[in-house]
Amino acid sequence: GLSNSLRQSWRRRTIDGGARMLIRLENITKYYYSSTSVTQALHNINLEFDRGEFVAITGESGGGKSTLLNVISGMTGFDEGELYIEGVETSSFDETDWENFRKDRIGFVFQDYDLFDKYTVLENVLAALYLRNIEYGDAVKRAKEIIEKVGLTGFVSQKAEKLSSGQKQRLSIARALAKDTEIIVADEPTGNLDSETGRQIVELFASLAKDKLVIMVTHNYEQAKDYVTRQVRLYDGGVVSDTVLKKNDAAAPQTEPVSRTGKQQSIRFVSLNMRRRS
Ligand code: ADP
Ligand code: MG
Repeated sequence: GLSNSLRQSWRRRTIDGGARMLIRLENITKYYYSSTSVTQALHNINLEFDRGEFVAITGESGGGKSTLLNVISGMTGFDEGELYIEGVETSSFDETDWENFRKDRIGFVFQDYDLFDKYTVLENVLAALYLRNIEYGDAVKRAKEIIEKVGLTGFVSQKAEKLSSGQKQRLSIARALAKDTEIIVADEPTGNLDSETGRQIVELFASLAKDKLVIMVTHNYEQAKDYVTRQVRLYDGGVVSDTVLKKNDAAAPQTEPVSRTGKQQSIRFVSLNMRRRS
């Protein structure tokens, strides 16, 4: 409601005044509970992400990559620490705030595409645009622009099920773009693709990250390393390295990697949120 958004704007203004990180994780810890065991999937994660970054999250299987992505995108809760979105503490979010966050702020790209198989390329993108309050004619125009951006012009009337794997992933990116969010997250988006097709998808993400934040989980860093601006490596739920590789500017020469050390914050917040993917 209005009071909630006013409260958030107020906080946004007073917490740190000026420009701020799009996403900040402070001492984030996350457990998975079952009747017989507790798994610590993330421990004391301190990270900041901003617009213009194309971040590869790497590390071995079970290291916490998907969990980190799900926490960042509000698909799952965390147990300790705080997640800030543009300086706003998300521990104050209720279920509606989280739904709105996932709907308005995050574009998701999944490994398994998440498409309507029987719909055409245009219809798939239109379906993603439907939630936005725009007129049909404008939506079609916008959909076609997005389809061009992902390189699927010429396949507008093709049913999704008839597309190649690479084209399906492009369409899934188009659907994420239809939401027009600043943040795009992708969990192993090239996992089902051959290496050249995968490389092209990574290249597409790199072009999108010029004015967005793109966070991509990948088990294939070799494929991504020439395109990403930063690599965050996880091991056993912790950040073992965080390396800035270059500015996101094709013309800029690649600079020497700079290693960052995650500063431990003294303040600890505790929140218990159970959330579902919407
Ligand atoms: P990655 O994506 O790097 O392979 P995950 O984030 O999926 O790692 O998993 C991190 C740890 O949390 C692993 O030990 C995994 O077994 C555990 N885990 C992940 N999802 C669940 C879940 N839904 N329930 C219980 N444990 C989980
Ligand atoms: Mg995973």
